[in-house]
Amino acid sequence: MNTFEILQKAAANHYALGAFNCANTETLKAITNAAKNLRAPIILEASDGEVNYIGYKQLVALKQIYMEEIGVPVILNLDHGKDFEACKNAIEAGFDYIHIDAAKLPFEEAISVTSEVVKLAHKHNLPVEGEIDHIEGSSADHRKENPEDLQDPKLFSDPEKAREFVAKTGVDVFASFVGNLHGIYATNMHLNLNLLKKIKAALPNTLLSLHGGSGIFDDDVKEAVKTGIVKVNVNSEMRVAFKMSLQELLNSTDEVAVYKIMDKPISAVQKVVEQKIKLFGSENKT
Ligand SMILES: [Zn+2]
Repeated sequence: MNTFEILQKAAANHYALGAFNCANTETLKAITNAAKNLRAPIILEASDGEVNYIGYKQLVALKQIYMEEIGVPVILNLDHGKDFEACKNAIEAGFDYIHIDAAKLPFEEAISVTSEVVKLAHKHNLPVEGEIDHIEGSSADHRKENPEDLQDPKLFSDPEKAREFVAKTGVDVFASFVGNLHGIYATNMHLNLNLLKKIKAALPNTLLSLHGGSGIFDDDVKEAVKTGIVKVNVNSEMRVAFKMSLQELLNSTDEVAVYKIMDKPISAVQKVVEQKIKLFGSENKT
């Protein structure tokens, strides 16, 4: 199955694929172990910073090797591609899915750059995810902040504008902003599910993604998946699990061969990924 077919299958069967950020060998192992254990198709993704750290071609090669080893579909996604050049690099390197984040540009410019990316990606038979409403927060530990302070309804996606954007660019997936923030906060957050339903009604033939899949109430996530979300991005909970586990470990060992002590951070991240796969309903969907 190609990437389009994997996404359409998720949409038709009302589950979502987890999109998990890969930051190093340990998180790559954690994500692929979880996918293998639960027989779940997954999206492996890397943001601009992560791609610059690991490399476009390196990510493509690693994804291919791990996918063959675990025997489940793995889609490699450029997460928040920052401009046409970054998307072109990913397409040429062999990524499977391209997210162009044009949210900081004026609407007309966002349409223009997104359309260019769509043109190139579709030549390679790759889906494109577009974003025009900046999803607030950052993939970090914001546990001293309240999510409500950043959930400004004025910044949420407008269904009519979303419809115009999709019609003019031809994106396959729309990144909706309905209260989902990047990062984890003092409390879990709720989504504006009514707004999500309106976006789905305005975009009946477009797939929807949900960024900021960390720290949202489980019931809201389940309802969002029922409404038509097919991709949920998760990063912050994995980052926090990795760092806390590593910190604790380094404080309690004299071992200097790092590969001998990475089991714990890997399982801490794997646990997060497995919980999310179950929540999104993609377990046993290979
Ligand atoms: Zn995101």
